[in-house]
Amino acid sequence: MTPPPLFDVIIIGGGPAGLSAAIYTARKVLKTLLVSHDIGGQVTYTYDLDNYLGFSQVETADLISKFDDHVDRFGVAKITGEKVRRADVAGEVKTIFLSDGSSHSSKTLIIASGKRPRPLNVPGEKELTGRGVAYCSTCDAPLFAGADVAVVGGGNSALEAALDLDKVAEKIHMVSLTPLTGDPILIEKVRASSKIDILIEHDTKAISGDGEVDGIEIISLKTGKTRRLDVEGVFIEIGLLPNSDLFSDAVPTNSLGEIVVDKMCKTRVPGVFACGDVTDVPYKQVVVAAGEGAKAALSAYDYLIKRR
Ligand SMILES: Cc1cc2nc3c(=O)[nH]c(=O)nc-3n(C[C@H](O)[C@H](O)[C@H](O)COP(=O)(O)OP(=O)(O)OC[C@H]3O[C@@H](n4cnc5c(N)ncnc54)[C@H](O)[C@@H]3O)c2cc1C
Repeated sequence: MTPPPLFDVIIIGGGPAGLSAAIYTARKVLKTLLVSHDIGGQVTYTYDLDNYLGFSQVETADLISKFDDHVDRFGVAKITGEKVRRADVAGEVKTIFLSDGSSHSSKTLIIASGKRPRPLNVPGEKELTGRGVAYCSTCDAPLFAGADVAVVGGGNSALEAALDLDKVAEKIHMVSLTPLTGDPILIEKVRASSKIDILIEHDTKAISGDGEVDGIEIISLKTGKTRRLDVEGVFIEIGLLPNSDLFSDAVPTNSLGEIVVDKMCKTRVPGVFACGDVTDVPYKQVVVAAGEGAKAALSAYDYLIKRR
């Protein structure tokens, strides 16, 4: 029986950071495997981008498809639709274990696993996820055509969600613990909408519904008064958590759970690199993630040639 291949590099994550890293490792003729639950990552949560160099405005689906085609042109081996469940990264050979039961090994590992939506952790949220509770307005807003909905959050993600829903829903209640904190241009658009009702300094107590969402219970931080809003959908847009849990025993993370890297994208574990939103590098943007992906790939190459 032929032994399973030992890759030069395994990249975990198919967002901008991982895809960019794959192009760079492939161009250095490193035997590369990219493993990702999906292709695109968080970029797929928004319809279009207007701040990626070379594209004054581009649909994210188009941009991701261009990134993916670019990776394919270099013949990078890819496994998509599976999750990495465990990783042994301490030794010379790094091994990852996937949700389909397979395992794959490499000499270096690039962690580009990005971020995921932060849950609200209120009663009803878990039970009603996918039954009116949603975390991605780009994906799910069309399901709420003509409905009354709530958006929980006051930052950019929440503002973008409210604006996505503005196109289809009847009424949008924006429930925020604080005054709105996102980009002024988005705040202006939200304020200009006659459909969006902004409820600042309100906390969410519970989401209700018997099989499907039928309401949300909120409390005013000023008056302590509780009220119920009759809604069919609740979009939770309160920020993101780094997908670093798998590695947090092996590599240091900061207080936010982001993997600490140096300017070469090195973690403290030899042969393990990290890039993009999962790291403590500031300014979570596509262009930054793509740049960091390139750096991580070149650092992995540097590590490998010094060992040959
Ligand atoms: C609503 C929203 C709007 C945004 N708008 C903009 C914008 O206009 N302009 C801009 O520049 N940036 C924007 N961003 C930020 C941008 O999307 C991120 O900075 C960028 O996607 C980070 O890329 P990444 O590759 O580091 O991580 P991600 O995009 O999070 O990709 C991580 C990848 O890792 C995979 N993964 C995670 N864990 C595992 C696992 N255990 N096993 C297998 N695969 C795994 C995921 O499936 C995903 O493919 C926005 C973000 C959001 C949420």
